[in-house]
Amino acid sequence: MKLLRTKTIKGKIKVETGLHIGAGNDAIEIGGMDNPIIRDPMTNLPYIPGSSLKGKMRSLLEWELGRIGAEEPKNNGEPCKCGKEDCPVCRVYGAAISRSAEEHALKRGPTRIIVRDALLSDEFKDKIDVIIEEKSENSINRITAVANPRPIERVVPGVTFDFEIAYRIIDTGDKGKRDEELFKTTVLDVLKMLENDYLGGGGSRGNGKIKFIDLRDEEDKPITL
Ligand SMILES: [Zn+2]
Repeated sequence: MKLLRTKTIKGKIKVETGLHIGAGNDAIEIGGMDNPIIRDPMTNLPYIPGSSLKGKMRSLLEWELGRIGAEEPKNNGEPCKCGKEDCPVCRVYGAAISRSAEEHALKRGPTRIIVRDALLSDEFKDKIDVIIEEKSENSINRITAVANPRPIERVVPGVTFDFEIAYRIIDTGDKGKRDEELFKTTVLDVLKMLENDYLGGGGSRGNGKIKFIDLRDEEDKPITL
């Protein structure tokens, strides 16, 4: 097994409808917003964690390939952990720890994709006051018709984040042919799927539509999805 080369995709993620990637409850301060977006603790700027992006890409691919609950023993909608070398999900995105994943680890090789944290683009760094909104979402009591408002924080449309993916082509005895093929179906095609889906929370309520723009490869050639 040998690393032949690393492909990269660099570009921007453009927010098209308000983006909410939650910080989780441990970030609550007294008097603070109870649905805050995640921010870099050093700069206080919003960012998109690589883990959020990678997780969303992986789940879209699992749906596409029918890998949800596919392997034995049947899971309850957890990520595929078959770990087999011919499973595009486990080969490219890595296998969750399981006996099967361990058994196939040597043949499968290392996780091919690396998704970096997407940091706020430079031109928005001094506009922190206007790029985050507090939106109120209501649930209506069915009997009294009284609204129960719940504020959530969102990054507003138009904002961009700098995005980068690396993808390792590994020779598993085939001169990297299989990984080259999978780059399109498990990465590029999935980015397109993500544009038609949503990122972060509240997708069914209109949040999280994004677009990948200005994508370039490792030779600085444009990539179209
Ligand atoms: Zn798998």
